[in-house]
Amino acid sequence: MGGLKRISPQIHFANLFCVYGIMYFLVMIKTTKRIVSAAALLLSLIIVTAAATADAAPIAANEIRVHYIDVGQGDAVLIQSARNAVLIDGGDAKAQQTLLDYLRSAGVTDIDYVIATHPHADHISGLPKVIRQFGVKGVIMPDVVHTSGMFEKLLAAIEKKGLRITTPKVGDAFAAGIIKFTVLAPTRKFKDLNNMSIVVRMVHGETAFLFTGDAEGKSEREMLKNRQTLRADVLKVGHHGSRTSTTNDFLDAVKPSVAVISCAGGNSYDHPHKETMEKLRKPERNIAIFQTDKDGTVIITTDGRKITLLTEKKRKG
Ligand SMILES: [Zn+2]
Repeated sequence: MGGLKRISPQIHFANLFCVYGIMYFLVMIKTTKRIVSAAALLLSLIIVTAAATADAAPIAANEIRVHYIDVGQGDAVLIQSARNAVLIDGGDAKAQQTLLDYLRSAGVTDIDYVIATHPHADHISGLPKVIRQFGVKGVIMPDVVHTSGMFEKLLAAIEKKGLRITTPKVGDAFAAGIIKFTVLAPTRKFKDLNNMSIVVRMVHGETAFLFTGDAEGKSEREMLKNRQTLRADVLKVGHHGSRTSTTNDFLDAVKPSVAVISCAGGNSYDHPHKETMEKLRKPERNIAIFQTDKDGTVIITTDGRKITLLTEKKRKG
């Protein structure tokens, strides 16, 4: 099928940099069964490195924009369409204001679903304020409790607002307008909270995104056993690039063209671990890797066919 080979992002980066004199680069990410023209294939993924701001370009009616917000050591991903918004995780306590400011600058007032992947502080600390300050309609959380003060704050904020918590099962599908996603994990009860992470796959047209929270190898193996479709163009790398996540088999099944790692520079966990980076960097995988500690906030827009990627910072070296 297709027969078109993916081309290394670096090669295209060099070419286009010379031509346009600005930080522009282009990557072909996939072949398509319905080849219309060579031009259509060339546009399957455009990566533009430039100063990304949340309020950059207006979102077209057929577009979904995914913001991997730089919240330091933690996760916070905003999925936005012209009419709807979904927030996956809310970062660490230190990044609370960053998150609130970012959501406002992106024009968010209402959020259809807040997904708290699991109750660790680096994923939920911004959420109580988000729930208090924004028009949140629904909350999705795994079936697990945690005895931290932050988790209790989150529950209190949810209760005060009169919101219902949805605890999804694998295979459950959710939609907020054109934002449609399916739950892939947790497949069962795990003792550790990371593996209880809710994993969702969002599909828009021919493009797919996988959001893994801090799911580790155990959960990845269960997802593989479950024979769910894991394939995604863009992978939010599990657990900040820890060596406990991103098993080879999982990567083989997802086959991402773009990987985004959410972590802080010089973090005490040493994320992302070099074992994970080695797997992602294997030439045959041909993955364009982005990290919030180096690239700042990463914004990916899809119209269902092509993917455009903006990074906040230009990488040094
Ligand atoms: Zn985490």
